[in-house]
Amino acid sequence: MRLQTAGIHHITAFVGDAQRNVDFYAGILGLRLVKKTINFDAPEVYHLYFGDETGTPGTIITFFPWPNGRPGRIGGGQVGITTYVVPTGAMAFWEERLTSYAIPYTKEQRFAETYLSFADYDGLQIQLVEREQGPQSTWSFAGVPVEKAIKGFGGAVLYSTHSEQTARALEHTMGMKREAEEDGFIRFRTSADLGNVIDLKKESVRYGVGGSGTVHHIAWRAKDQQEQLEWQKQVAADGFDPTPVQDRQYFTAVYFREAGGILFEIATDPPGFTVDEEVSALGEKLMLPEWYEKYRAEIESNLTPFTVREPEVKKP
Ligand code: ZN
Repeated sequence: MRLQTAGIHHITAFVGDAQRNVDFYAGILGLRLVKKTINFDAPEVYHLYFGDETGTPGTIITFFPWPNGRPGRIGGGQVGITTYVVPTGAMAFWEERLTSYAIPYTKEQRFAETYLSFADYDGLQIQLVEREQGPQSTWSFAGVPVEKAIKGFGGAVLYSTHSEQTARALEHTMGMKREAEEDGFIRFRTSADLGNVIDLKKESVRYGVGGSGTVHHIAWRAKDQQEQLEWQKQVAADGFDPTPVQDRQYFTAVYFREAGGILFEIATDPPGFTVDEEVSALGEKLMLPEWYEKYRAEIESNLTPFTVREPEVKKP
């Protein structure tokens, strides 16, 4: 029997300054910084994870802030837009909030839904959409009450260099339901109630350039490590070239690049972000995997400290 992913596990992007990244995602969007760690492949930079209170799969966006990183260009082979779900009726709150922080936005329609569209400080494209689906957030920060708070990912808009082949990877390899087609987008849906709506731009897009302000990869959920090994087989049987399983401390990961240029990851739901910190203390300390612990002093001395804070309102 073929496997079907429940939906998005996390999305990972490159940004510049860590403080500005924290100000945007925790301070303005009101997400929780659930883990402060380092890039396991490049320990001189942070790896920051933002999500709901516990970092539930389907709510997690992660960043590698390279202080002097070269800006990238959004394009084919990337997640073009990351979408977040807010409760029904919360859109007016968010319009007002973005205005108060002097963040310009537009409104767009896609599949009969209204999206509030804006960019973060590094140029990553974000959209908010109202939906009933998904549990209400339990995390309130910086003046975002739980009843208006982001619940998690709505999904993502994918830009492919070969959209026919990406469509096949989503439907056939990842097991998503191809649901509708409209105005240049194909909509796919998964079984989860967050991170479950994937819109693929139908027209192929020329290659983007990786760098600050672009998404590096999108990770899809596997139930556990056993299923991840089955995923590895399914992906290989479909003609892709999956990596060996890699330990990412909070999940294990297998990566492969689909034919439209987008880097896909299969990530396990367990063990999650409470494996090395209590729920009440998530994101407070710099956490290192045990193989880096002996270099802690050196690693910490290379990182610029930041604070999780409520940014100053720009306009009254
Ligand atoms: Zn990842």
